[in-house]
Amino acid sequence: NLSALSLLQFPFGRRLPCDIYWHGVSFHDSNIFSGQVNKFPGMTETVRKITLSRAMRTMRDLFPLEYNFYPRSWILPEELPLFVAEVRTMKDSNPSWKPTFIVKPDGGCQGDGIYLIKDPSDIRLTGSIQSRPAVVQEYICKPLLVDKLKFDIRLYVLLKSLEPLEIYIAKDGLSRFCTEPYQEPTLKNLHQVFMHLTNYSLNIHSGNFIHSASANTGSKRTFSSILCRLSSRGADVKKLWSDIISLVIKTIIALTPELKVYYQSDIPAGKPGPTCFQILGFDILLMKDLKPVLLEVNANPSMRIEHEQELSPGVFENVPSPVDEKVKVAVIRDTLRLMDPQKKKRKDTQLIYDYSYLSLHHCKKCCYSQSSMKDKQHKHHSLKLSLKLKFYLKRGLCQSPERAPGASEEPLDAVPGPEAALPSLCLKQVFPKYARHFSYLRLVDRVAALFIRFLGVKGTTKLGPTGFRTFIRNCKLSNSNFSMAAVDILYIDITRRWNSMGIDHKESGMCLQAFVEAFFCLAQKKYKALPLHKQVLSLLELCECRLAAVHGKRLVWGCG
Ligand code: ADP
Repeated sequence: NLSALSLLQFPFGRRLPCDIYWHGVSFHDSNIFSGQVNKFPGMTETVRKITLSRAMRTMRDLFPLEYNFYPRSWILPEELPLFVAEVRTMKDSNPSWKPTFIVKPDGGCQGDGIYLIKDPSDIRLTGSIQSRPAVVQEYICKPLLVDKLKFDIRLYVLLKSLEPLEIYIAKDGLSRFCTEPYQEPTLKNLHQVFMHLTNYSLNIHSGNFIHSASANTGSKRTFSSILCRLSSRGADVKKLWSDIISLVIKTIIALTPELKVYYQSDIPAGKPGPTCFQILGFDILLMKDLKPVLLEVNANPSMRIEHEQELSPGVFENVPSPVDEKVKVAVIRDTLRLMDPQKKKRKDTQLIYDYSYLSLHHCKKCCYSQSSMKDKQHKHHSLKLSLKLKFYLKRGLCQSPERAPGASEEPLDAVPGPEAALPSLCLKQVFPKYARHFSYLRLVDRVAALFIRFLGVKGTTKLGPTGFRTFIRNCKLSNSNFSMAAVDILYIDITRRWNSMGIDHKESGMCLQAFVEAFFCLAQKKYKALPLHKQVLSLLELCECRLAAVHGKRLVWGCG
């Protein structure tokens, strides 16, 4: 109900610029030059299974203990030999280890193409792996069960801003249940999807699926109802929440470097452009000991609040889903409240009555879409809705001529504005609130800042050989042991390998992940004895310091 937020819709768009654009699939759904868009450029690519696994591996290499909430993963086909070798070594050192692995196609969703294996030799190599890369991952064999069933949690997270980093988590989420009682994987039950995969889209086809009439029964329940149950069993629910918050912040810290590269490419600094925010869907599994494990991040989580029900054989109808409604409506409502374009203005000025425009471009059809949907498919039915916001501003330097008759000049909080009738926020800020516990993890962010600085050409996401040389030269990293010829070889070797993995052929040059690898390599060379994160930190400090000196000299010359 947008009127509760004092928003007005313009279903066919608006000639004047909007304040908020609500896209169904991606940042690129329409050309935007101002306001705020509900998608970040590159988010869909950044949270794909392979990219996420790579980002998590980089963080785990740096901080093994902090990033052990993501199952160990290997990328297929390129890491198949590594996967085989590592599993063999682990089995040799621990003969009683009887692992199971889950193979998930990259870019897949809704359980599509997923299967379980007991041994690396069971990977289905014919055809599909070559044409469709995948991730193979340790399977969590001992999940927490409720009513003997496996379930996972969908939590909604608002990435409100990338720079400065601002993260909010919804206080409630969804728990999606399997429909067959769980048994630890054996060769006999590996293929039983209703036992091992919690996807709603799969389990809905099981005869055992129960549409939930209330929050704490059926195949889709609220997460809060599970927490209540755990709490009544004596579980430490506070600690669980704290672990989940930590998982979410750490995951976003792993994603931000890549996102920043996309961001500067699509919205170059200094040019007019919108800012972005995005609701993400985090899929989390709880282990028996209540440890949360990240399964995946969804860039376009379904916001459907109804489900299809077979009323009589062959007759389907969309019926409201109270559980979805309870959780999702609050997430969208609070996102709009937090992104209120006038909030900033209201902070430091006095009250006047004003009309202000908040507009949404919203793709009605795609708001239910899954991340697999391609932009092109979506474009033709892009339907624009715009919203107009009428509310209170505080009076600053520019008093509005449109002051409403009888409007009071009391401080904002004293006036029952349109938000007064709304329930309290379900989105809880976790960053920067807990920044001091996590800021030390943001090393790759700083490496990405160096990468972006030397990209040179605006709008690109890859570093050319000259940019890499300039980075080495300006940071004074070359010496008699590491000649410029060796620098070129390092660049060529790493770039060629990353480009041969076939992730992005659109641009030539060194991608961020390749630069990170080169940076780690340089750090290891220079600071041999230290652990990796200290090596990287030392090199970062050296580079930042030398660049500050170069910058300082430039300023002095400029003045001269
Ligand atoms: P999709 O995008 O296709 O839904 P997911 O990564 O979410 O792929 O996996 C689908 C389902 O498989 C999850 O909802 C979960 O029930 C199960 N699953 C995925 N990864 C693991 C894992 N490592 N251990 C145990 N179960 C898993």
